[in-house]
Amino acid sequence: MSAAVTVPVWPVEGWELVAGLEVHTELSTATKLFCGCRNAFGDVPNTNTCPVCLGLPGSLPVLNAEAVELAARVGVALGSDVRRSLFHRKNYFYPDMPKNYQVSQYDEPICVGGSLELPDGVRIGIVRAHLEEDTGKTTHVGGDGRIHGASHSLVDYNRAGVPLLEIVSEPDLRSAEQARAYVAELRAILVAVGASDGRMEEGSLRVDANVSVRRVGDATLGTRCEVKNLNSLRSLGRAVEHEAARQVAVLLAGGTVAQETRHWREDEGRTVAMRSKEEAFDYRYFPEPDLVPVAPDAALLERARAAVPMLPAARRARLFGLLSRGGDQDPARAGAPGAQVAAVVASDLDQLVAGAVERGAEPALALARVANEAAAEPDAARRLDVEAFAHLCRMEAAGELSATQAKTVLGVLLAEGGDPAEIAAARGLAALPAGAVEEFVRSVAAAHPEEWGRWLAGEEKVAGFLVGRVMRESGGRADGKAVRAVLDAARSRA
Ligand code: ADP
Ligand code: MG
Ligand code: ZN
Repeated sequence: MSAAVTVPVWPVEGWELVAGLEVHTELSTATKLFCGCRNAFGDVPNTNTCPVCLGLPGSLPVLNAEAVELAARVGVALGSDVRRSLFHRKNYFYPDMPKNYQVSQYDEPICVGGSLELPDGVRIGIVRAHLEEDTGKTTHVGGDGRIHGASHSLVDYNRAGVPLLEIVSEPDLRSAEQARAYVAELRAILVAVGASDGRMEEGSLRVDANVSVRRVGDATLGTRCEVKNLNSLRSLGRAVEHEAARQVAVLLAGGTVAQETRHWREDEGRTVAMRSKEEAFDYRYFPEPDLVPVAPDAALLERARAAVPMLPAARRARLFGLLSRGGDQDPARAGAPGAQVAAVVASDLDQLVAGAVERGAEPALALARVANEAAAEPDAARRLDVEAFAHLCRMEAAGELSATQAKTVLGVLLAEGGDPAEIAAARGLAALPAGAVEEFVRSVAAAHPEEWGRWLAGEEKVAGFLVGRVMRESGGRADGKAVRAVLDAARSRA
């Protein structure tokens, strides 16, 4: 055990964190991996069991073809090589595992290689994805939920034998945000191909994070620790940063990082050592004698390809394509458009944007209205009539409605539907003619001579104040861009 050190707050100047994630996803098959028991969350404990998943002597496993199909789909989606694989027995003793070994793929996994693209365009490599069976679930009763201090433990074997796909990333992640973005992206892909329901809170997706640190500029990787018990994206981010900071503290104090498994304590906001490499189990892997190797044939791969829909990265690329066609809009992936594209695809509203653009809406405007307004009510937005939304965008772009007015009409469209022109007319919403905007600017200039003088003298930051005043005086009818144009014209004349 290393002596206690004070842990700094991440980021620490001059240091870089490196992370690789192991994501276990429960496949949404109807039945378990090696028996016909129901694969369902939340059933009465120990009702979905049989001799196979309870590991009774003499029972024999039969591989679930649906699990193989789903694993192949994930492989296709990640660009992996989907290949012949072999099951091994991984031997260890724990009450949640009635057979005292877990059937898992070891050195011949079903998927090898591949990658995934984050919304900001960074690619994260995939090492492999392998099939294995889940364990049962233990609940420690009494105390604080940990085994130490519990009065007794309960075990539910409904989960024993549920198919898992463990997806292992390359150590390509460099920040907590990237680690979270990776899991969010992987989750979206798993849901899109129908492999998982993606419910982290139900344990459908469980993440272990391998973390190391090194000095910025170092080419070699530091020694890693594996952090377990990450139950949400938030815990993942906090744990990765805390673990990196802890390792830096150890190194700065002259110590060395021991390769070990650590446990994230959400309530304390820190990781604690579980077991070191020396204490690591010897799993005595050997080939599972009751199962033959799984060799995906051409027909299976064809079915897998056909079942993979357009994935989030391609959907984002399509929106970026629309944006750059729109002219002067910078299709940069970072910055506001990048964030809007990511948000719109994440909430399944990219079809609304694309459909509106097809019907003559300005791409950047349609994107902004969906990302900033419609996405706040995703269910209503998915029901929105595309033509009505496109019409609204055309009205705003033509200057018939100010931005504020367009947002009001959009709110009505989301709540009750209808025709944007009729909604605007019924509420007396119409943008001011250009002459009226100039009128409001003149009166604001007269009421605030000091600010007006600073604006004419070239002070940029006073623009917000002046535009705000005009908006207020016009009761939101003036269009912000039109006001700005009048201000600019006044200054260039001055
Ligand atoms: P093990 O069986 O020891 O867990 P795996 O190959 O299954 O090894 O997983 C190793 C994980 O650790 C991968 O996600 C990999 O990207 C990550 N990893 C490997 N080396 C490092 C390192 N130096 N720093 C951070 N992560 C690492
Ligand atoms: Mg591991
Ligand atoms: Zn069973």
